[in-house]
Amino acid sequence: MKPLTNRSKAVSNKKMTFLERIYLPAIIGGMFITFKHIFKKKATVKWPEETRTFSDVYRGRHVLKRDDKGAERCTSCGLCAVACPAEAISMVSSERKKGEENLYREEKYASIYEINMLRCIFCGLCEEACPKEAIFLTTELLPANYEREGFIFGKDRLVEPVDKRVDVSKRQTSEVVSRKFND
Ligand code: SF4
Ligand code: SF4
Repeated sequence: MKPLTNRSKAVSNKKMTFLERIYLPAIIGGMFITFKHIFKKKATVKWPEETRTFSDVYRGRHVLKRDDKGAERCTSCGLCAVACPAEAISMVSSERKKGEENLYREEKYASIYEINMLRCIFCGLCEEACPKEAIFLTTELLPANYEREGFIFGKDRLVEPVDKRVDVSKRQTSEVVSRKFND
């Protein structure tokens, strides 16, 4: 069958020369390439001793934000889960009870909210879809874990602590907000 590209090469059965049979020129050529790289700037870093500087809008692990008064912003509308191409987000909605106004901003909230980080491809579509500015990705890397269950992040690891707020101002710029809500 005719190939789709002209990249394929016909196999040659010609006998190897003496030099080709002892492989020395090929080995020396390979070593030369290796030595050339010794003096070049390394692309790798010795993590965790060394860390890279990430862009302010790097897409790392998620955070569920609280409002200024400390109430959870998420209203469990499910738009992030619908937008997620990896189907990594699941949640259970509950109705806010009297006296819980300081805990949840809206009348409906997510009593369970989970992200399966093994499925997540860190595309950021959940962040874009959220109409409540509740979910953001952060510059924080995902911690390693030996167990699969350790990659299911529930609210205990997603909702930001009241006394340790996560700064998302670099992602939630006025330009981003106006594009999100006016386009
Ligand atoms: S970053 Fe992308 S893949 Fe990950 S949870 Fe959000 S929408 Fe899904
Ligand atoms: S994080 Fe945003 S999009 Fe997802 S359920 Fe909560 S309010 Fe809706």
